Amino acid sequence: MFKKILVANRGEIALRIQRACRELGIKAVMVYSEADRDAKYIKLAEEAVCIGPAASALSYLNMPAIISAAEVTDAEAIHPGYGFLSENADFAERVEKSGFQFIGPTPESIRIMGDKVSAKQAMIKAGVPCVPGSEGELPDDPVQVRRIAKAVGYPVIIKAAGGGGGRGMRVVHTEAALINAVAMTKAEAASAFGNPAVYMEKFLQNPRHIEIQVLADKYKNAVYLGERDCSMQRRHQKIIEEAPAPGIPRKQIERLGDRCVAACKKIGYRGAGTFEFLYENGEFYFIEMNTRVQVEHPVTEMITGVDIVKTQIMVAAGEKLPFTQRQIEIRGHAIECRVNAEDPYKCIPSPGRITMWHAPGGPGIRVDSHIYSNYFVPPHYDSMIGKIIAHGDTREQALARMLTALGETVVEGINSNIPLHRELMVDAKFMSGGTNIHYLEEWLSHHQR
Ligand code: ADP
Repeated sequence: MFKKILVANRGEIALRIQRACRELGIKAVMVYSEADRDAKYIKLAEEAVCIGPAASALSYLNMPAIISAAEVTDAEAIHPGYGFLSENADFAERVEKSGFQFIGPTPESIRIMGDKVSAKQAMIKAGVPCVPGSEGELPDDPVQVRRIAKAVGYPVIIKAAGGGGGRGMRVVHTEAALINAVAMTKAEAASAFGNPAVYMEKFLQNPRHIEIQVLADKYKNAVYLGERDCSMQRRHQKIIEEAPAPGIPRKQIERLGDRCVAACKKIGYRGAGTFEFLYENGEFYFIEMNTRVQVEHPVTEMITGVDIVKTQIMVAAGEKLPFTQRQIEIRGHAIECRVNAEDPYKCIPSPGRITMWHAPGGPGIRVDSHIYSNYFVPPHYDSMIGKIIAHGDTREQALARMLTALGETVVEGINSNIPLHRELMVDAKFMSGGTNIHYLEEWLSHHQR
């Protein structure tokens, strides 16, 4: 096992990884930008290294600074968390070339899955069902593009091969709008992701977003840890996640999980990963794979009892997966609400000083957050300041516990989306389960104030 790991991230996930290291008896070296100097997990760290100014490009995305920090502290491995450099194959490669273990899959796996066109091709080969669309990147010839769209059937969605974070996507309803939409998505993709390649998919009208969590080791052992329903999204970004997904037959999930496990073995995947699917009319369609730990991993941890972050570290150190598929049991139901520093209805970021923070507690409640009273939310990063997770024997109990927890939570000095979550927990449609990916945006459009 490693003696020392460098945590190349910030905020709640940096703290989450620090906690996993403590439990494993590993020293965690934390890195921070000048804007995060006062974070508690930095103060509590045995070792912490400043890697640059507030702007992420100069700190959390600064590969030489991070690798030097690992060198000067004698860390053996680097955990990238999520976001930032976590899905950057060049970073993973540089980490390994510099003699450190990257806590994640191989650079090749990241590269294949990071390009959504090659990811889909790999999944088709592995027998995983995909959204119908262009086979590969769209050609330049408008006549061919029109022909592909006609075959797929309108509406279609144009997506950047290198896209992420809900950006680089455009829905097209008519042939008249097609060529212009492709040109605009290409231009955006080139500037945002450094890769102008785009592809086409059928735009599914009312799908749910369902994903499968996997864990794999270096010896081709792999398991899936059930599914998560992440359909409560706005601007293609998730804000509530739950596990299991309400109303989907277990047999169907098991078949899909087995396919994902087979795909992991086929591509030699190692570490934690998520296969994301859209689910419509009883069918699953693969959209992408995330080759890292995800924000919503706690709901899976709550229903399986598996510590995903600890397992990531163990398999990166060369250990075998400590469980087999038959040992994975799903217990009860878990829901996660992402707490964002933002206006709850307009979703405008609200950075600044938190004058008062009171975290909820009680049976089945877990809070993953790095904030505290008098913490300053820097304006430079994502607006998520924490996550509240509620576990119960049933979905009803998890919802009731979440509602109580949200009622106990106090965030003062900045705006937070707690009021939105409180309303959603008692919304009749959400309570009955199975809302689709458009539900939250439609709800918000009726509740603007
Ligand atoms: P990103 O990597 O940016 O998260 P994804 O491919 O995972 O992009 O898609 C993000 C979200 O966009 C999905 O959860 C879904 O809401 C929507 N979406 C993507 N592809 C389609 C599609 N073919 N039809 C309908 N919605 C889609």
